[in-house]
Formats: sequence, structure tokens, C-alpha cells
Amino acid sequence: MINDLLEYSNEEQRLVSDFIQREEKNGNDWSNDEFTDIKATIKNHYKVVQNYTCPYCKVVNPNTHGMVWDIEHIIAKDTKPIFMLEPRNLCVACKDCNGAKSNKDVLVNPRRVTFPTNESDYKIVHPHFDRYELHIKAITPGDFYRPLTSKGEYTIVTCRLLRFYGVVQQTQPDIEIDELAKAMISSQGAARRVLEDELVRRISEKRIA
Ligand SMILES: [Zn+2]
Repeated sequence: MINDLLEYSNEEQRLVSDFIQREEKNGNDWSNDEFTDIKATIKNHYKVVQNYTCPYCKVVNPNTHGMVWDIEHIIAKDTKPIFMLEPRNLCVACKDCNGAKSNKDVLVNPRRVTFPTNESDYKIVHPHFDRYELHIKAITPGDFYRPLTSKGEYTIVTCRLLRFYGVVQQTQPDIEIDELAKAMISSQGAARRVLEDELVRRISEKRIA
């Protein structure tokens, strides 16, 4: 959970207010030159206060250059441009999570017009409002996660957290583990627990090997 919210300078706040008041605005405006500086402010702030940790997969990547981090709009800027510069709608995320999440819907009520500030307004684990550990157990960050709630489950699916890249140290998932993971995801109850335990066992073996 991010505790240190970004505060804009007076100049940045003027730009934000100006944008919000525009009649025509859309997510593509994000690429406008006028936002170059504010994007640097956003990325530098959240990278540090998040301890170089992705809020969805919890992988830590302490690189000092900005390329490994994407600015993440928790509610997608293409669906709700009005929240594009809202500090509570912003954080940084790793490229895998950001790419998987894309423009997927995160709101319980997608027709919201005012910014939703309650954790119950969101279908995903919110980087600012939710306590991650209540919803997801990151057993091996980067590879394996166990959902603890339906919100955790939705986040795992939305951000495609079961990627299994780390354990095999290659760019493609391990086929055997991937198949097991697919079987686990489509199973329920006791069968699912058995498959989960098997998956954790295989991953642990790979880590040691
Ligand atoms: Zn991530």
C-alpha cells in the first residue's frame, strides 16, 4: 500500500486543473509534450516511495534508469481521461503487469464520474487503497501467487501474474509448469489446492536447481 501520495507543485497543479477543465480530452493526450515534465515527476516520485516494487507482482527492480518502469494508470486513461493525472490513480508498475492489465476494467461501477476512493469501488487490489497481503500471497514473486480473496483472484488474472518467467530464467514460460498452472486455474476446491501445492513444489525445485 502506497502511503506517500504525490503532491504537485503549483505550476503542475495549474496544468492538471487546466486539463480537467478541457471539454475535449482523451487518453492519447498523455503523449503531448506539455506532460513530459509532469510524467518525470510522477515516475520519480512513485518509483522511490514504492521502493522500486511493482504493486501487482511485488517484483523488486532497483534500476536507476527509468526504462524498466511504466507509469501505471490504475483506472485506464483511455477509459477515464478525467483521472489521467489524479495522484491516487497513479503509480509505477513493471512492464509485464502494465502490459497485461492494459485497458481492462477495474471498477465495480464503470460509469463512475467522480474519482472512486474506496477499496470496495475496485475489482483489483488497489495500490493506494488496499492491503495487498490481505488479498494475495506472493509465494514466489514473479512466478507464483495464491489468491486469498476474490479481489486477489481478479488481480492475478487481470495482471497475468502467473507468468513463471523467473524460475526458468528465460523469456518464455516453462511448458510443464505452464500446463500445470493452466490446469490449476481451471480447477476448483480440493483439486485446486492439490495442483497449487504441486506447482509450488515444482517451482521450489527449480529455484534450488
Ligand atoms: Zn509487476
